[in-house]
Amino acid sequence: MDTETVARERIERLRELAEEATLADRDDRARRYVRRARRIAERNRLGLPREFTRFTCDSCDAYLRPGRNARVRLQDGHVVVTCDCGAQARYPYD
Ligand SMILES: [Zn+2]
Repeated sequence: MDTETVARERIERLRELAEEATLADRDDRARRYVRRARRIAERNRLGLPREFTRFTCDSCDAYLRPGRNARVRLQDGHVVVTCDCGAQARYPYD
């Protein structure tokens, strides 16, 4: 397996772990997984998968769980996600 494949698999595994940690109310642990995945992506010059970028906060690295640590609303054909830290991200609605 080449290093890019290995890196992508590690990132996906860390995303799953971050999701599980958030569901278990372990937000700090989730942030550590998110940060680790970001570092792996940077080091390997990989883009992060869409599920990763949409469910993480660029500002505080939280793994976002709408209804608990994030609010989601629709505005002008966009999805606007607001993290509890106040950071907002907008994505085209699809
Ligand atoms: Zn945040």
